[in-house]
Amino acid sequence: MLFKNRELVVIGGGPAGLAAAVAARQAGVRDVLLIEREDYLGGILNQCIHNGFGREIFKEALSGPEYAQIFIDQLKQSDIECWTGTLVTELTAEKKITACNQQGLHLVCANAVILSMGCRERTRAAIGIPGTRPAGIYTAGVAQNFINLKNRMPGKRFFILGSGDIGLIMARRLTLEGAEVLGVAEKLPYPGGLPRNITQCLEDFNIPLYLNHTLTDIYGEHRITGVSIAKVGPRGGILAGSSRKLACDTLLLSVGLIP
Ligand SMILES: Cc1cc2nc3c(=O)[nH]c(=O)nc-3n(C[C@H](O)[C@H](O)[C@H](O)COP(=O)(O)OP(=O)(O)OC[C@H]3O[C@@H](n4cnc5c(N)ncnc54)[C@H](O)[C@@H]3O)c2cc1C
Repeated sequence: MLFKNRELVVIGGGPAGLAAAVAARQAGVRDVLLIEREDYLGGILNQCIHNGFGREIFKEALSGPEYAQIFIDQLKQSDIECWTGTLVTELTAEKKITACNQQGLHLVCANAVILSMGCRERTRAAIGIPGTRPAGIYTAGVAQNFINLKNRMPGKRFFILGSGDIGLIMARRLTLEGAEVLGVAEKLPYPGGLPRNITQCLEDFNIPLYLNHTLTDIYGEHRITGVSIAKVGPRGGILAGSSRKLACDTLLLSVGLIP
């Protein structure tokens, strides 16, 4: 195990970690170490190849990778040390960090730590959807990763649960890649995503948005063969007699992020 003492350690090399490391260095922190588990920096924005990033800070519409690259370039122009391919596995109250990479285990004692490890997507188990447990159920971000980073199509006929921005962006992306998107169900009476994503990702492609609807069942033994959706009443319960079955081979979940 290798021991090191550092002034500031930033865990996570997505846009938040990159910006924090650069800002700390500019503010006079001399010894900054950034740790990222992937072999590349930029975090989840590497798979967000659509534009719409950068409007606030750079006043132009950039893709996710273009936006992240600006911070990666700033980091590279500084003397901030960066360990990619390195997973942090423990952080103690005394700010002792355990990290591992191909060189082995590292123990880093930090004066200060910034946590910027992003989010996890809520899964089927987190929201308790009933039904069988076939293959073909993905979170929207995993499907985005397969298509945009690994050049793999996860299915042909999709249904999407949840109208957050990632699900909306994926409805468009899948359609552009030749898949059929049957619709997006949202249990609330209004969509979760931005109005421009409703227009540009659903309406422009005639993809139905079922507000006040949720998923009530999943069918299929090996691969998913379909889902049932039903109307949600004003108190959150399923309205009797409103259920309908849709045949699909893939279900995407876009039902929130957990820090
Ligand atoms: C799937 C997905 C799609 C998204 N799509 C959009 C979109 O289309 N439009 C939009 O505006 N926003 C989108 N977002 C939101 C977007 O992620 C945020 O705006 C932004 O990327 C968050 O930056 P971050 O640096 O906080 O996190 P991230 O970009 O997630 O970066 C966190 C980094 O921490 C690293 N990390 C995590 N744990 C460890 C560990 N233990 N050790 C070392 N490194 C670790 C990860 O590998 C990652 O590189 C999306 C989010 C997700 C999850």
